Amino acid sequence: MTLVSLESLVPSDHIVRLMEKHIDFSFIDKRTQGLYSTKGRPSVAPQVLIRMILIGYLHGITSERRLCQEVHLNLAYRWFCGLSLEDKVPHHSTFSKNRHGRFAGTALFRELFYEIVQQALDKGLVRGKHLSTDATLIEADAAMHSLEPIVVYCEKEAYWQQLDEESCNEPEEQQADSNSDSYDASEKKGPINQTQRSRTDPDSRVATRWGAKHRLAYSGNYLTDNANNLIIDVEVTSPSLTDECLSSVEMLKRSQFRFGLNPEDIGADSAYACGEVLTGFMKAGVDAYTPRPQEVPRSKMPQYGKDRFKYDENNDQLICPQGHPLRKVEDKSKPRLVKYVASEKHCRDCPLKEHCTQGRRRTVQLHVDQKALDWAEGLRNSSEYKISQVMRRRIERLFGEAKEQMGLRRARRRGLEQVQEQCLMTAMAQNIKRIVKLSIPNDLFAVKLRLSSNKSSVLKALLIDFRQRGMRILPRLSIFNQSTFRLAVCA
Ligand code: SF4
Repeated sequence: MTLVSLESLVPSDHIVRLMEKHIDFSFIDKRTQGLYSTKGRPSVAPQVLIRMILIGYLHGITSERRLCQEVHLNLAYRWFCGLSLEDKVPHHSTFSKNRHGRFAGTALFRELFYEIVQQALDKGLVRGKHLSTDATLIEADAAMHSLEPIVVYCEKEAYWQQLDEESCNEPEEQQADSNSDSYDASEKKGPINQTQRSRTDPDSRVATRWGAKHRLAYSGNYLTDNANNLIIDVEVTSPSLTDECLSSVEMLKRSQFRFGLNPEDIGADSAYACGEVLTGFMKAGVDAYTPRPQEVPRSKMPQYGKDRFKYDENNDQLICPQGHPLRKVEDKSKPRLVKYVASEKHCRDCPLKEHCTQGRRRTVQLHVDQKALDWAEGLRNSSEYKISQVMRRRIERLFGEAKEQMGLRRARRRGLEQVQEQCLMTAMAQNIKRIVKLSIPNDLFAVKLRLSSNKSSVLKALLIDFRQRGMRILPRLSIFNQSTFRLAVCA
């Protein structure tokens, strides 16, 4: 008879062995302690349950029935979950039972994710100085034909009163249009997300962006640390640009509060260059590096830009290049814009009129968060801006990995809470993979260098030297030009 031990069958370089070596999983017991009763028949151990879920995310096993089969058959998975060859693998219904019972309404998965981030911080893999943020669409587990109109129950009198109020508030031009023959009732419907909901997943919303096919979706938002591209916060929102952008400010504040981070800057794409978000970053004391949003076509722009007009703080008005005031005018249809108008009399006789406006008088529209927009514009000329823009694109790799290898392309279950869990566990699995990789000593990460041949020889010598000293080189080199290349080295 041959005796076989499970311990001897799992190779030393297998991912589960490395995870066990470099990650401390004792936090699972600590975080789930309060959720389990000490009386009655013992439940499936939380260590087994969470480790099995983690295996599912690491290997993109989206079905819980299949996950149980895989753990039953795979010796390495058994070993990682602490199950012997004789132990029975928990039934697949245990997962949904716990999800809808014990874990429902708790922040367990967020806490588990933060524990891994804390371990990365303790190991010095998260620096918290330079951050990036971005979002990706997660297709909801619901079809478009599940959409149905939102029915709001209302008393007859209240409904008539509401209609009266709406018609009073309607702009005059619109009222005139509605009386004309060309009036189209369908235009009054408003955006689809305000009038319709999915019957099967009411938390999902129709994503209508980028000219892509309309579909029900969620948005997964990541906040990452540039040093090692580790994810430090996750949020799931509706697939609206406003919600995505505002969630980045939330994530930033949360990471400052939770981990005591003191970031210097954050990089994002041009969608985040809106006043409200930039004001949030500015108030948090973090430099925001965002590309300029798409500009209005040149032909529609006046010849003198907004920068030629000085703001008079005492009188809340603008002063034009000729020294005349532009008074503030309220426009209720555009609450986030402040309009300043010049006097027709001044503009008519002005020698600069042909350089300033083609109309009868000049109008300048400023955003209510104009201060933040100007602040972000000033940051676009710095060299840090260029670095940040290169670094922020690395989030796409994380999204690619999450979607291609871990099943984040489509929501596994329905409801915001369930998608939040999926996103947090995916990010946790990605972080664990990265921490394991970065914790292997004497590891030199490959860098694509775009340098001339004479520089390459110098660099080659440096790389050998760093390798001998067990140092890592961060992939920042390609963003510097050939004459000013610098090495970002961490011990
Ligand atoms: S055109 Fe009007 S707003 Fe422009 S510089 Fe002349 S007076 Fe000022």
